Amino acid sequence: MRKNLLFTAVTGLLLLSNEAASAQTRTTLDIYVVDVEGGNATLLVTPSGESLLIDTGNTGPQASVRDASRIMEAAKDAGLTQIDHLITTHWHGDHYGGMDELAKRIPIKHFIDHGPNQQPAPGPDEFLAKVYPRLIANAKHTVAKPGDKIAMAGLDVQVVTSNGETIKTPVAGAGQPNPYCASFKPGDNNIEDPLSVGVHITFGKFRTMHLGDLTKNKEFELMCPNNRIGTLDVFLGLHHGVNTSSSEVMMHAVRPRVAIINNGTRKGGQPDVMKVLLSSPGLENLWQIHFSLLGGQEYTVPGMFIANLTDEQPPAMPTAPIAAPAPGPNTPPPPAHDGPAFWIKVQAQQDGSFTVINARNKFSKTYAAR
Ligand SMILES: [Zn+2]
Ligand SMILES: [Zn+2]
Repeated sequence: MRKNLLFTAVTGLLLLSNEAASAQTRTTLDIYVVDVEGGNATLLVTPSGESLLIDTGNTGPQASVRDASRIMEAAKDAGLTQIDHLITTHWHGDHYGGMDELAKRIPIKHFIDHGPNQQPAPGPDEFLAKVYPRLIANAKHTVAKPGDKIAMAGLDVQVVTSNGETIKTPVAGAGQPNPYCASFKPGDNNIEDPLSVGVHITFGKFRTMHLGDLTKNKEFELMCPNNRIGTLDVFLGLHHGVNTSSSEVMMHAVRPRVAIINNGTRKGGQPDVMKVLLSSPGLENLWQIHFSLLGGQEYTVPGMFIANLTDEQPPAMPTAPIAAPAPGPNTPPPPAHDGPAFWIKVQAQQDGSFTVINARNKFSKTYAAR
């Protein structure tokens, strides 16, 4: 009898440890590029289930709920019960907009930003005065400085840009002269985009980076005269593929194998920036979160690499690019794409190999370790 009880207890312990082992079976760094209609929401999840979310989509009574819900779909897919770290890259409505709605749905433990809003506007100023203090009250809050590390087990996450400053010391292994500096042409920018918090992330031999909406002049500061970033496997975000970012000085020097742009149907992906992206040395594929009407069929990738089509699906894919809407507050919002939305997922291995998956058509491609 005693022996049997002991046997049962030991078997029970073995079963428990087996269950614990199966909950730990993820070995990849998983990255979800969520469709937030030309905004940004990119979720990274480590093998142990620790999470880093970069931005929370769009403001607006409907858009904020839609985007928070889409982020939650990715969080559930990853089995998350909390967001461990949230970076808000800058105080534009397409980057912080779903934060309050998201915080109602899942606890957020650590808030990271570049400091106060520098581009006065009623939306972010009210959010920062009334909503953000409430959200961060019971959490950790960090104002990021270049060179800071965000502590995550199994990942090296380094802040490379914040509040207009860039790292002065190259990331490990980088620092070679950048041949693209000589032909750099300065670009235009608003006030907040160049202040974006940018992070460089290493998982084993896999390297990726997200710079928020960092613009060309800051790309030059970060990348010249020496390339302080080195090369990347996957370049995330790219300011939605908008042409005030992604100069050759950045894009061609970091030579990503894969770039994923978080564009909208009428935001980013226009001809001039597509030429830079698609001529990038060493680029194996560009993936788009949306088909862009600004690029048309002329300046796009095959549909199998595009996660979402257009809001009002035309009978045939449009061939000619349309003109980009004028920037500024008087531009009417694009038609909302509120139906099913699809993410692009990256699964990276320690050896540097990775797979990219299009959730719409289930097309996936594996990029072998080098
Ligand atoms: Zn943006
Ligand atoms: Zn912006």
